Amino acid sequence: MKFNTKTIHGGQENIDPAYGSVMPPIYQTSTYSQSTPGGHKGFEYSRSGNPTRSALENSLASIENGKHGLAFASGLAAIDAVLKLLKPGDEIVSTNDLYGGTYRLFTSIFQNFGIKFNFIGMNNAEEIEKHITDNTKLIWVETPTNPMMNIIDIEAVSKIAKKHNVLLGVDNTFATPYLQQPLDLGADLVMHSATKYLGGHSDVVMGALVVKDDALAEKLYFIQNASGGVAGPQDSFLVLRGIKTLHLRVQRHCENGKAVAEFLNNHPKVDKVYWPGLESHPNHEIAKKQMKDFGGMVSFTTKNDNLSEAVSFVEKLKVFTLAESLGGVESLAGHPASMTHASIPVEERQKTGVLDSLIRLSVGVEDEEDLIEDLKQALS
Ligand SMILES: *Cc1c(COP(=O)(O)O)cnc(C)c1O
Repeated sequence: MKFNTKTIHGGQENIDPAYGSVMPPIYQTSTYSQSTPGGHKGFEYSRSGNPTRSALENSLASIENGKHGLAFASGLAAIDAVLKLLKPGDEIVSTNDLYGGTYRLFTSIFQNFGIKFNFIGMNNAEEIEKHITDNTKLIWVETPTNPMMNIIDIEAVSKIAKKHNVLLGVDNTFATPYLQQPLDLGADLVMHSATKYLGGHSDVVMGALVVKDDALAEKLYFIQNASGGVAGPQDSFLVLRGIKTLHLRVQRHCENGKAVAEFLNNHPKVDKVYWPGLESHPNHEIAKKQMKDFGGMVSFTTKNDNLSEAVSFVEKLKVFTLAESLGGVESLAGHPASMTHASIPVEERQKTGVLDSLIRLSVGVEDEEDLIEDLKQALS
């Protein structure tokens, strides 16, 4: 089955044996009757499993070319479950240009439990090897990174991970499986904030993990059930519905992303544009190799690196909404230094390029001309 068919039918065989509905019913139930103790029809309690969630989990496994999908209450709950595979003394090598909430979870929660983190630039895959010790258990990668749009060569990192017998996890939120399938490139697990492109309509908070390996899936399922950060049936239904148009939406996100990146790149007030589709992007060749297209996330700085000018720019936007988050049908603008990345210390943040003037755009699926006009008036 090809990707565009998988988004609609993948893992959805025999979805409703009772009535043949084409969408799974929303099983809004906490428990299931048993004919005799243990005599149930596959579900006994909705933390452990729910048919609507299962339908979504099967779809997730299918679109990421994995075998097992797990749906969580949020993207961070999904990462939280991955980190619970580790124990005190274990080490993680992670990209330094991380989603702020992931950085906070790592440093403010798991560091307290004796897990050690090495945050490094991974543009040069060999650099990673220097930071791997006998205690390293996990390499955590975001690509494209947030908000600097760095591209990390997943295949190159996976070779290093395999050589040292370390798990490789990839946060695939920005790319989506339409653009990039990390399991095919050698990653052991893929994570999503399904809140973003998979849901796609800014109406749900959810997370996901997908793996191929049965033993790893079993461990993660144990953690999901034991810790309990599961996705609810209503939200599972919404994300499943979102996935059915993922290929159509992301294709348009990419077209509009290109138009916006090129417009900004030619604007006299704009300094740098971070979009992996630009030939000037330092990792453009890797992006071309591992991604089908370049996505709808575009960051840029202005020549005048001034906080109040950046704030006034985002306030002037009319079609773009000033808001946290990304990946919905509507265009959003964010100011990482004061919003998504406010929890990262200033020195850390500026080291990775998150300057005061940096603006991050989640380019939506509106008409391209309206988006450009809006940016033009706000920049003037
Ligand atoms: C939003 C986001 C997360 C966190 O997901 P939530 O659903 O908000 O918990 C993690 N990684 C990336 C790249 C994100 O954009």
